[in-house]
Amino acid sequence: MNVALVIGHNERKKGAYSPYLGMSEFDFYNEVVKCINADVYRHDARIRGYSTRIRTTVGKLNQKEYDLVISLHFNASEDPRANGCETLYYFNSKKARDYASAFSELVQKRTGIKVRNGGLKALTQKRDRGFSMVYYPKAPTILIEPFFGSNSTDCRKIRGVERVAAIINEFIESYG
Ligand SMILES: [Zn+2]
Repeated sequence: MNVALVIGHNERKKGAYSPYLGMSEFDFYNEVVKCINADVYRHDARIRGYSTRIRTTVGKLNQKEYDLVISLHFNASEDPRANGCETLYYFNSKKARDYASAFSELVQKRTGIKVRNGGLKALTQKRDRGFSMVYYPKAPTILIEPFFGSNSTDCRKIRGVERVAAIINEFIESYG
């Protein structure tokens, strides 16, 4: 299966910082992708405007044929108790929903991190966080948030870079 990985956020705005992993989302996934054999895309920090930045990345990846696009994030909350795995997708893509469901289930199976809200979050409208990233790619797209970087238990269960990479690799391989 031909997969594109898109690292969430960018080198200037690196996303949430996990005190337990000692890394931001951007830095964390820059390490994770080194262990995965797939095309990697990063958003261009020089492009102003969130939506333009996302659409520029998607314009590039849409020039190739992918079976799946995975946007790489972890979750964070001001409430340190918030925890669990959730995978986001465009509500009208049955394929993306199936991938999202399978990914969340695999995270739970391999780490013990519980799925939040069934492990699925359907994005329906432009104002939904992450919408552009799951809506504009031609290929089915999932935006993964396998754990909360702000929750000590989730971070202990996820362990770190190698484990997240192993789960993504297993997921990709399971679809041949
Ligand atoms: Zn993020």
